[in-house]
Amino acid sequence: MNTQNYWAPRSIPPGGHSLPPLPYPYNALEPVISSNTLRIHHDRHHQSYVDGLNKAELKLVEARQKGDFALIKHWERELAFHGSGHILHSIYWTVMTPQGTSGPCTETRRQINGYFGSMDAFQQQFIEAAINVEASGWAVVIWNPSWNHLEILTAEKHQNLTQWGGIPIMVLDVWEHAYYLDYQNRRADYVKAWWQLVNWPEVEKRLLLAMRAQVPLVISNLGVAVDC
Ligand code: MN
Repeated sequence: MNTQNYWAPRSIPPGGHSLPPLPYPYNALEPVISSNTLRIHHDRHHQSYVDGLNKAELKLVEARQKGDFALIKHWERELAFHGSGHILHSIYWTVMTPQGTSGPCTETRRQINGYFGSMDAFQQQFIEAAINVEASGWAVVIWNPSWNHLEILTAEKHQNLTQWGGIPIMVLDVWEHAYYLDYQNRRADYVKAWWQLVNWPEVEKRLLLAMRAQVPLVISNLGVAVDC
């Protein structure tokens, strides 16, 4: 697979983030996720993370220019919170599809079976993890490029409880704003119904790209050439 075909690395300047458009109409995920929920979630909530990330980056530019780091703790927190919110929502929209797909593609299935034992075991752990996130957060499937396997993690808010280096390939938003209008406090019903929406070919593409990452924990003996 040649990543050059659809991924041209580009450095986003401070404050240069923008809201990616939803890849389908607002009503496309009904009845699992209502049009009203999707509109508010994407247009208002996701937008606010993009705005918050841009603001934090620009405030840090200002801090560096002035040499004034009195509010560093605050802006670093904002950077982590809004940055992670923007990343996870961008992935969330794309790992859902109105058509629904029949199940994991070749490599995803191989990695799920290899590490979790079976699709059932994987799905059970993911569902329980998502249901039991305290307060606002996410269930996140990552590819760990140091250990070369998948893992299921949860995130409190957007940024807490990660394993550093993990590359998210499938995410489920369990903040109340993602389901409350449709399911009220029945998060478990939302989490179980959500599986109808999983866009497995998209997950497969994310996995194949993540698997190309080379991030060993120890690199001293790998002969990586550097110019410095
Ligand atoms: Mn959300």
